[in-house]
Amino acid sequence: MRMYLRLSSLRGTVALNAFLFEAALLLLSFTAIDLLLWRSLRSELRGTAAQELQWLEDFMADHEVGGRDFLLEEMTEHLGSRTGVLMEVLENDRILFRSRGISPAGLSELAGEYWVEDRVFRGFTLEVGVPAASQLAARRDLRAVMAVSGAFGLLVAALLARSLAAKATAPLAAIGDAAERIHDKNLSERLPKPERVYQEAERVRTSFNQMLDRLEGAVLGLRQFTADASHELRTPLAVLKLQAQSALSSGALDPQAAALVRSQLEEIDALKLMVEDLLTLSRIESEPAPRSLVDLADVVVEMVEQFRPIAESKGIDLDVMDLAAAPVEGERSELRRVLANLLDNALKYTDRGGRVSVALERNDGSVRLWVRDTGAGIPASETERIFERFYRADPSRDRRSGGAGLGLAIVARIVDIHRGRVSVESDPGKGSSFLVQLPLSRA
Ligand code: ADP
Repeated sequence: MRMYLRLSSLRGTVALNAFLFEAALLLLSFTAIDLLLWRSLRSELRGTAAQELQWLEDFMADHEVGGRDFLLEEMTEHLGSRTGVLMEVLENDRILFRSRGISPAGLSELAGEYWVEDRVFRGFTLEVGVPAASQLAARRDLRAVMAVSGAFGLLVAALLARSLAAKATAPLAAIGDAAERIHDKNLSERLPKPERVYQEAERVRTSFNQMLDRLEGAVLGLRQFTADASHELRTPLAVLKLQAQSALSSGALDPQAAALVRSQLEEIDALKLMVEDLLTLSRIESEPAPRSLVDLADVVVEMVEQFRPIAESKGIDLDVMDLAAAPVEGERSELRRVLANLLDNALKYTDRGGRVSVALERNDGSVRLWVRDTGAGIPASETERIFERFYRADPSRDRRSGGAGLGLAIVARIVDIHRGRVSVESDPGKGSSFLVQLPLSRA
């Protein structure tokens, strides 16, 4: 369980705001309770202090007439005997009477235990301090109780805020999770309707699905266009090739024109290959081929034999290692195509005297197919991109020496459809090693 808050997330912000709101409510209610209690305690203390002041005022009025000495004597005798209450009488800042228990600093020093009030009466300053210890202790006790229950309340508020935020954002998170599972390979999937429908989330879900409808339409249209365009290009290219070949074989061309037509023929062949690759790619993407059990080892043997004459003509050693039966669930011609493209590249980018080797290895429910060469290699910065369409690591090679840049895109797509992975490791100048991993069939 993650306890920290990410304020960049909606969930974190909702949780924080809910927590702050709950904490503010708690603080407000505790402050109100404290104030109310203090108001009632204070009015009780004020009442008692007012009574005592009145008593003192009456006392002064009764005894003042007897003269100063009489007043002082009476004060010492009677004021000191009022139990619990402290009194002080001043005349022009001169102390006439001060109860025992009052320090030289005066009554105000005792504010922590006594409620002190004063009033001026006929030139005298009368001060009384009524005991307030029990009221002040009651207030302290209440505050302590509030502090403990406040801390507990904050904890409950945090948990509440967390679960509230999780609840509020769950529909959005569910949409996000479902949306993440949709990519260009399963564009026909849609976000499912949840069991409990919330208006806002439902709006997001339906508009996302509508956007997917439009996107899928556009992607399908684009695929169809590529397929149609490639198909339409096939015939004119075949006608062009035929015309160029017959012009060459007629012998009517002077050497310069013949060289030009030969170069055109090469271009036409490269274009034909590109068109075929485009057709293959759009076919693979639009109609999933029926699957059957295919032994990859058979395919390796078959394709290596097919490429052996090319390897021999180029003076490249082509050999096979570690062959073991490797049944996979797939489409034979597509798997053949994977090997053909990898072998074609390996032979294309390896010089005379080099070596190309194919190895097959089974392990833990998967089969690993390696096609290694001792050729030109690929710079590290290019290894990710060579699986993209039309990407050629060395653009200086023309289409005749390299290809259109579709071979590895086809490999990647086929491997992907077979729930596998393809990767490459390469040491520029020393060679490359392509690895295809496919799940072994359980059948
Ligand atoms: P191409 O038709 O150009 O060969 P690919 O998609 O088959 O297109 O390969 C893309 C690029 O990856 C190539 O242009 C080439 O630069 C590089 N590449 C592929 N295989 C190899 C290899 N075995 N050795 C060196 N470079 C390679």
